[in-house]
Amino acid sequence: MAGSPGSAGLVLVLNSGSSSVKYALVDPDTGERPLSGQAENIGASGGSYHDALTRILGHLDDRGHVDLAGAGHRVVHGGERFSDSVLVDDEVLDAIRAFSRLAPLHNPANLAGIEAVAQVRPGLPQVAVFDTAFHQTMPPAAYRYAVPQEWYKRHAVRRYGFHGTSYRFVSERAATLLGHPPAGHPPAGHPSAALRLVVAHLGNGCSAAAISGGRSVDTTMGLTPMEGLVMGTRSGDVDPGLLGYLAEQTGRGAADLTDALDTRSGLLGLSGTSNDMRTISEAAERGDERAGLALDVFVHRLAKAVAGLTASLGGLDALVFTAGIGENSVLVRSRVLARLGFLGLAEDPAANAAHGQTSGGRISLPGPVQALVVPTDEELMIARDTARLVSAER
Ligand code: ADP
Repeated sequence: MAGSPGSAGLVLVLNSGSSSVKYALVDPDTGERPLSGQAENIGASGGSYHDALTRILGHLDDRGHVDLAGAGHRVVHGGERFSDSVLVDDEVLDAIRAFSRLAPLHNPANLAGIEAVAQVRPGLPQVAVFDTAFHQTMPPAAYRYAVPQEWYKRHAVRRYGFHGTSYRFVSERAATLLGHPPAGHPPAGHPSAALRLVVAHLGNGCSAAAISGGRSVDTTMGLTPMEGLVMGTRSGDVDPGLLGYLAEQTGRGAADLTDALDTRSGLLGLSGTSNDMRTISEAAERGDERAGLALDVFVHRLAKAVAGLTASLGGLDALVFTAGIGENSVLVRSRVLARLGFLGLAEDPAANAAHGQTSGGRISLPGPVQALVVPTDEELMIARDTARLVSAER
């Protein structure tokens, strides 16, 4: 099996997590996925990344000849060093290892996936695609915390932002749907300047970003993926004074309290029952008060963040919803839009109920500001980056 005519071949896209490896064989030109799956029980709790990659590459060989252009890896943290995807070499591996201090759960697993491919398929070109890279265009006013400068200089304490691969995919697609060319700059004769988007990526992790002319200028996540919006199990923004206060009140340490903010807060902490927006919405509609409150806080904080990001852009052309909740929750979108009428947004209920699928993504009534639903596809973005970098090297 070969890639489509004239293409550089297929790309093996890998997302190596702490306990599983998600994989997909992707045609970077057509987006087709002839093979995909997930290897479970990896890492501390089970088998090695080497065994998993041997199995995954074995599935490929079972299919006969696969013209593999390279492997593309999702890597969570690229620090200040990477503002684009890169071909992996020893120096890149060292940098990913160094940024493990900023993403101790993710980068070591991502690295193990890259090293396993290098062992199982020596010579196969590999590309690292960073969640943080897209946000490296943020200005210092958006990325610096108002803390002692030494923390930034010595400990790299600043806002990085995440979900960048998704934002890149979704903002390009939204620009196309809105009649702007991919870079987000206006077509000839178009009255406005660079296209101003707020994209809300609402999955298990939730963040939103302000994107001007295709460049990130602000986002809600920070040093870690815990800052910003309410998420499935993460608190999002809290008063930093909370940590010292609770340490004193309960005698618990920083690691323990941070873990509670990361894994037992958010929708789960508020509702006491679930981190899943489907379950929360159904319970809220049945009159469950705690689920109702979880939904209220989620919507309140999201609406506030969209308005804040609009200030970072100096105005808004479109609000775009993506990822599990953003693509599927008619209720969350409806409630957020109802809060943002003052920005010029108004829900088109029929279009929203159809997830924008019959209206070119649009879920708003005609007006100065549009709302869209745009399904994200991080795997395809990783495959395209990999094909681009591999063919540039040839
Ligand atoms: P991940 O961040 O792990 O990729 P997803 O993007 O798949 O996660 O998003 C998962 C979230 O999407 C969950 O909170 C889930 O409840 C929510 N979700 C999926 N389908 C629906 C739906 N039909 N209505 C509301 N929420 C949904």
